[in-house]
This record gives sequence, C-alpha cells and structure tokens, in this order.
Amino acid sequence: MHDKTLSELASALDAGEFSSRELAETLLTRIDRFDGNLNSFISVTPDQALAAADRADAARARGEAGPLTGMPLAIKDLFCTEGVKTSAGSRMLDNFISPYDATVVEKLKAAGTVSLGKTNMDEFAMGSSNENSFYGPVKNPWDTEAVPGGSSGGSAAAVAAGLVPAAMGTDTGGSIRQPAAFCGITGLKPTYGRVSRYGMIAFASSLDQAGPMARTAEDCALLLGAIAGHDLRDSTSVARGVPDYIEELAAPLNGLKIGLPREYFGDGMDPEVEAAVREAVKVYESLGATVREVSLPHTHYAIPAYYVIAPAEASSNLSRFDGVRFGHRCDNPEDLIDLYKRSRAEGFGEEVKRRILIGTHTLSEGFFDAYYKKAQQVRRLIRQDFLDAFEEVDVLMSPASPTPAFDLGARKDPVSMYLQDIYTIAVNLAGIPGISVPAGFSGGRPMGGRPIGLQILGTHFAEARLLNVAHQFQQATDWHRRRPAIAEETL
Ligand code: GLN
Repeated sequence: MHDKTLSELASALDAGEFSSRELAETLLTRIDRFDGNLNSFISVTPDQALAAADRADAARARGEAGPLTGMPLAIKDLFCTEGVKTSAGSRMLDNFISPYDATVVEKLKAAGTVSLGKTNMDEFAMGSSNENSFYGPVKNPWDTEAVPGGSSGGSAAAVAAGLVPAAMGTDTGGSIRQPAAFCGITGLKPTYGRVSRYGMIAFASSLDQAGPMARTAEDCALLLGAIAGHDLRDSTSVARGVPDYIEELAAPLNGLKIGLPREYFGDGMDPEVEAAVREAVKVYESLGATVREVSLPHTHYAIPAYYVIAPAEASSNLSRFDGVRFGHRCDNPEDLIDLYKRSRAEGFGEEVKRRILIGTHTLSEGFFDAYYKKAQQVRRLIRQDFLDAFEEVDVLMSPASPTPAFDLGARKDPVSMYLQDIYTIAVNLAGIPGISVPAGFSGGRPMGGRPIGLQILGTHFAEARLLNVAHQFQQATDWHRRRPAIAEETL
C-alpha cells in the first residue's frame, strides 16, 4: 500500500481493502524503519495521525468520505501546525510548538487528510540541497551519497522513499520543483496568491508560495484543489474561483504550443539533462503539440535580482526572532542588547546569517535605490519576458535544474549553490506557476542513475493547464512510476 498514489489509495479505501488506520500504521512503521538514514522527517506525530485516521475511517463508514479522506501526508516544517513543533529547520525554533494551524494545514485537516509528521528542510527555506538544516542533511532515496535538493528536500525524499504518498512543500525560488526533480517525483509551485501564506513561516513574502509534492500530476491536482483559494488572513491571496483541477486533466494536447527558452539551453546545462528534456518534448510532439524557440532576454539577471530581493525580505521577516517573543533565548543575558545578539547568533545558522547581512545592507539608507529598487525594476522586466512569451506559446519547457542531484558536500561555496536555481528563480520573480515532472535518469541507466525533472511553466493562474500537460505526459511515459530500491523494500 505504500506504493500507491492518492487516487489509487482512495479506490482501495473505498473498496475496504484496508482502513485509514491500517494505512497510517503501515507508513508510520516504514518511517520508523527507513527514515533513520534518510532523515526526511523532523517530527513524526503518530498519536495525532492515528486519531485523524480513526476520524477518517468513521467518516467513510458514515458515507461522508471525500477524495482526500484518510490520505496520509507529510508537511514541510515551515507550516505552523497546532500543538506540534514547527521548527523551520532552525535551532531558533527548535523549542517552538505552534499554537495555531496555517491555512494550508487547516484546509488539509478539513479535507480529512492524516498528517504523519513534519519534514526536514533547509533552515528558513534557504538552500538548494537540504544541507542547511539544523537537523542535519536529508539523503536522496535514489542514492544516499546525493542530496535530495532543497529546501523542501525532506518532503521530496519522504514521497520518493515510499514513506508518504504526498507532502506539502514551499517554493520561494525553486524549493518545490528542484527537490521534486532530484527525487523523481512531481511538484507544483502555484501562481503567487493562489494559496494562502497565512501560518507559513515567511522567508521572502513576495515570492513564497505553498504547493503539493506527490507521485503524479493527478495527485497534485487533488491536493491543489484542497489548499487553493482566497483567505482573508492573507491579503496577497487572490479572490478568484478554484477550478476543478481533476476535471481538466483529460483535455487532449492537440495544438498545444510549447516554447523552449533559448537562454536556458546552453552553457551549464548537463548534456544528459538536456537529452532527457528534448526526449520529453518529442513525446509532446507525438501527442500533437508544436514546438518553437522563444526568448526570455532578461534571464541572465534573475539570480542577481533574486539574491537582492529575497535576502532583503528575509532580513525584515527574520527580525521577529529576537529571543523575546518566541524561539531560542540565550542563557544569562547581561542586558537587552546582549539578549538580542546572542539569541540570534546562537539561533541562526550560517546561510541565514549571510542572508540577513546581505538584506540589511541592501535595505540600508544610501543603498536601497542602488540595490533593492533596481532589483524590483529588473523583476518587472523578467515578468514581462514571460508575459511576452505567453503571447506566442501556451507553456514553456525546460529542465527544473541544470544538473541531476549532486553529491552531499560537493558544493561548498554559496554562489555555485545559488546557480542551481537558474531555471526556477525567475518563475517566482514573475509570480507564474511551474511544475516539475520526472523525465529520465542520469548515468544512461534507466534505474541506476539519478532522476531528471522536466519543468513546465504557464502564465498566471494556468495551474489547470500545467496539471493537464503534466498528466498527459504521465499517461504516455512511466518515469513517474519508477521507484528507488528503498521504496521497493517491504516491511
Ligand atoms: N534555493 C533558493 C534559495 O536558497 C530557493 C529556496 C526556496 O525556494 N525556498 O533561496
């Protein structure tokens, strides 16, 4: 049962093959057995999980089950979860038990899902490898020498390893799509404003967005339907109806216009990654799509603009961690300044401190116009590039990441890590949605290598189209059905 997708689980639960409780118990045992080495969870919450599973079984017995009733999930430890530690992967919040639920968590509970626990992540979602977690790195289930990607690496690894069928992630510059690609699963970053950010610990507020990570586009569609929508508690969430994402999956792709951004295919793209993406594009052509090259002329400025805007917003958001209101507090402070200084020095890790320093600098008087304001102007140009491209084509395709998963410890300097996000970051700056789907493996071996992800981008609020385009690919290929050896192991 650990190998099934959400839609397969729903049929099995409806048919009475097993109960939600049995399902939750099996997966909890798998976590116990296999997660020691992978480290994909920060907290496992069996008591809450079994209580929720019992409620789901009771609802099903009353004939009140919806499509997600009794579905086990894991939630990135960036989402506030009532009564459960919510650490953001940081020592700063190692002692923080959230008194309330994030809107995403609240909606998933209302849909009857069963959270098994909170997943590991880069500290405050800053990173591309999960090596920045206070709780230690996560290992890639396909190859434990490799990183799982970041920052939602725990969520991606847990799904890939068969510990949960789906998980929640967040994406500020690629943190859903890149780990999905590295772990061979499907991950969707919705349009900015599609999903409420309330209760999601803020990294860069104008870029952060929550989204589903699962084995198939169909499962992502189910989950997006449950979490999307307007929320009065998040003024940036958009008051716009939520379509039936499942209904739209079946639309044929005849006449679909695909654009390949010229600036993406070139230096820095691993040849195996390029070959896999070009192969995937051929599959689309066989399904009736047409392909042309398009240009996103400001691509080159995306990483520099992001690394001004994201740290600026982070430095502001993270000022609330002062050792007074919540989180880590140093021992025996001499005075208030000492309390602030030492609590923050002890609570934050190296990458977070680096970003706070950069952000504080670029926002300071005399530098604001040169850095922050300029970066916002560049951002507008990047957004316009995408809007122009979507005048010509329906979707854009590229790799999610220039390389397959790299080795743990292989990227030590921050800049080479930042370059990981070359194909994902502009998407957050523009606010458009993107999805990553499994599209091959490195090493020329269908199973022995590391997964490669195809990224599909659409214009604002085109999630239904992206899910449809991803789903049709998954009807024609079986990359999403490949499992690492650890997921094949039975209890
Ligand atoms: N890797 C990027 C960063 O470190 C993006 C992270 C994210 O999307 N949360 O900022």
